[in-house]
Amino acid sequence: MADDTQRRIAEFIEPLRVTPGSKVTLAKDFDPGYKADFVKKKDGLEFLQRGVELMTEYQARLAAQDTYGVLVVIQALDAAGKDGTIRHVMSGVNPQGVFVHSFKVPSAEEINHDYLWRYTRDLPGRGEIGIFNRSHYEEVLVVRVHPENLTRQRLPKEARGRDVWKRRYRDINDWERHLADNGFKIVKLLLNLSQEEQRIRFLRRIDLPDHNWKFSAADAHERTYWSDYQKAFSEMLTATSTEWAPWYVIPADHKWFARICASAVIANALIEIDPHFPRVTAEAHKALEATKVELEAQAPKGAAPDPFASAAVPAAAEPRDAPQKTGKKTRKKAAKAAKKAKKAAEAEKKERERVEQADRLAGRETEKETLREDEREARTVERETEAGGEVAGKGAH
Ligand code: ATP
Ligand code: MG
Repeated sequence: MADDTQRRIAEFIEPLRVTPGSKVTLAKDFDPGYKADFVKKKDGLEFLQRGVELMTEYQARLAAQDTYGVLVVIQALDAAGKDGTIRHVMSGVNPQGVFVHSFKVPSAEEINHDYLWRYTRDLPGRGEIGIFNRSHYEEVLVVRVHPENLTRQRLPKEARGRDVWKRRYRDINDWERHLADNGFKIVKLLLNLSQEEQRIRFLRRIDLPDHNWKFSAADAHERTYWSDYQKAFSEMLTATSTEWAPWYVIPADHKWFARICASAVIANALIEIDPHFPRVTAEAHKALEATKVELEAQAPKGAAPDPFASAAVPAAAEPRDAPQKTGKKTRKKAAKAAKKAKKAAEAEKKERERVEQADRLAGRETEKETLREDEREARTVERETEAGGEVAGKGAH
């Protein structure tokens, strides 16, 4: 990839990164209204488009290489734009390699296990990008702000002492390090919304009939815990931004800018992995050549044996037309080898599809729900954009 784009992205996201080991006070250190040098939405569109293109390109390679996985963690307060950001940044990727999992209040089954259990269950596999819409960080956010959640977890006495949060930060860091060491890149995004912009977004949900369905009185009530959440966010950023899984604080008062930032951070992670399409081995190449001979022999009268012959790259060891000169016996042998290779490839594909299908069954319903919601939000955002793009600027500081 062009080093220049890579450098631009790295520079762009640097101010958003929480330096591991630094002490963070969210309100003081990160401005929710920040929008870099982009003054207007239209100036940032090109950057966003490039980010999405990069993601498309790199995701295809990630899936083909099947060695690394990516976990994108999205945390935010209500109305910060989690769903819209997810829909937007993933707009160019192949849905087969990406899934979204939303974490709500834990079920009875989930609460019956250790607190990381349900997050482990939904981790992405190799070659996949998994997005956590809320995540294991709820365990040091909502659970901390509302201690009754901790009581519900039925922890033994020794696990719920005063150092419970310190222990959780340690657990989370260790867990993420284990994942990182085993090929899973963790991208952590905190959508940072200002209190005033949240108030405006709630009012919009109340005043505009189209938005009513999004309003929840519980969300408005949660707002009364604003300073507790700010404190919990600050401590979480301080304790869990690590070299192997740093946090990025995404300014969320301008939705369009938040989307640019999120896609740039994810694109940067993929660039760092730098996945490659697997190379075809000499043996596999031989099998390809054998199949080619077989297919060419099946050409009907008058048709070109291989219309792509001029575009194909000949194998280094064997000139491409060599098999055509071989006798009947050799062709038969080659055809047999090709048949065997094809059968093996088909069996492997079937098994892979079976495993993927099983993996997705649990998350499918949630995913559908998110998509429906995203569509509704997309229509709203389009209307806002048509109105001049000024809506996003209301909360600017
Ligand atoms: P949206 O409102 O856009 O649909 P959401 O993520 O806010 O998305 P809700 O169903 O409204 O979804 O809320 C989920 C709730 O579950 C949040 O209030 C969140 O704090 C809570 N939650 C998530 N994880 C936990 C947890 N481990 N313990 C207790 N509550 C949790
Ligand atoms: Mg909600």
